[in-house]
Amino acid sequence: MPPSSTTGDRSPSPAAPNIQMVDLKTQYERMQEEVDQAVLEVIRGGAFINGPAVKDFQSGLQDFLRCKHVVPCANGTDALQIALMALGLKPGDEVIVPAFTYVASAEVIALLGLSPVMVDVDPFTFNVTAELIEPAITERTKAIIPVHLFGQSCDMEPIVRLARRHDLYIVEDNAQAIGAEYTFSDGRTARTGTLGHIGCTSFYPSKNLGAYGDGGAINTDDDTLADRLRMVANHGQNRRYYHDVVGCNSRLDSVQAAILNCKLPRLEDYNARRRAAARYYDEHLTSLPGLLTPARLPASTHVYHQYTLRIDGDRRDALQQHLHAAGIPSMVYYPVPLYDQEAFRGTAANAIDFLPVTDTLCKEVISLPMHSELEEDTLAYVCSRVRAFF
Ligand SMILES: *Cc1c(COP(=O)(O)O)cnc(C)c1O
Repeated sequence: MPPSSTTGDRSPSPAAPNIQMVDLKTQYERMQEEVDQAVLEVIRGGAFINGPAVKDFQSGLQDFLRCKHVVPCANGTDALQIALMALGLKPGDEVIVPAFTYVASAEVIALLGLSPVMVDVDPFTFNVTAELIEPAITERTKAIIPVHLFGQSCDMEPIVRLARRHDLYIVEDNAQAIGAEYTFSDGRTARTGTLGHIGCTSFYPSKNLGAYGDGGAINTDDDTLADRLRMVANHGQNRRYYHDVVGCNSRLDSVQAAILNCKLPRLEDYNARRRAAARYYDEHLTSLPGLLTPARLPASTHVYHQYTLRIDGDRRDALQQHLHAAGIPSMVYYPVPLYDQEAFRGTAANAIDFLPVTDTLCKEVISLPMHSELEEDTLAYVCSRVRAFF
């Protein structure tokens, strides 16, 4: 970020700067030639499905994640669905999932006839913990889906220990945290997504590694699981026209893979820029009564898919209005606990209808603009408007 040409705490006048939640256009312009060339190559080469760009991306992502197998697929929701299908779970098996997450994490469980068992999250990191998961485990529990929400790892070491003790699979929802690193107590570090049995991620355009359309990937270190994941994602076949299981059709297309091949080497830089923006927010939004900046888990790096504040005392919506009037976009991720969604009514295996932290967070959270192209003058303006509200 360039040094601030600050005008103090005054808002620019007359017009507010053009601020976006996510700025994909500026990011594209910084690598336009490379991306245009890569896309043209795919179109001219004609290998639109499973072309060399897909193979390159698969091995590039394996290197990045430091894992053995990557199976590219059509989107992050498919990644989760294919992961659960590959585990061979039976109808009625229970899968533990946080109630404070994007719908996809729980939707796939219900879609497959499995039972989503929703649990609460930590009020400061917004993530599930082993302590919150343990009481929800029954004889029918088969898997846990920890979601690394907003870009920070769940505290996985105790979750991995718990899963081992109860013989449960861990399917990480890594859609928001690609690039984050978790450090175990013995000093070993690993990428989120590689801490359990299977990791799932999304390349939805606004994600930290976003395509220019849909995309997703599944990863594992387990050879047997990898074979099953590939088979499920490819109509349940290993050999063409011989279908061993009922699968689905889920592919990353070559154009998206070519774009991702341009962006993957830049992901560390994108995440560093997000961290720098988060640091600025942290420093300039401290000591405001009733405002909590996002907590950091010491064992995890944070890639700030979202920068999410908590505003106490029913003032969240008023702050959002105030920011909107100042030309500053903001979003509420997420406004409704999953157990209150019409779609899940009556389906939750344990009939959860209230979890206190999830309920509070849905009323208190607000996410500020966060992307790789935020400049200091924009950050200063956003912070000055937030401060003015308090
Ligand atoms: C985006 C997201 C997904 C789904 O990804 P899609 O590619 O949109 O299907 C799943 N889980 C979480 C937490 C997400 O943020």
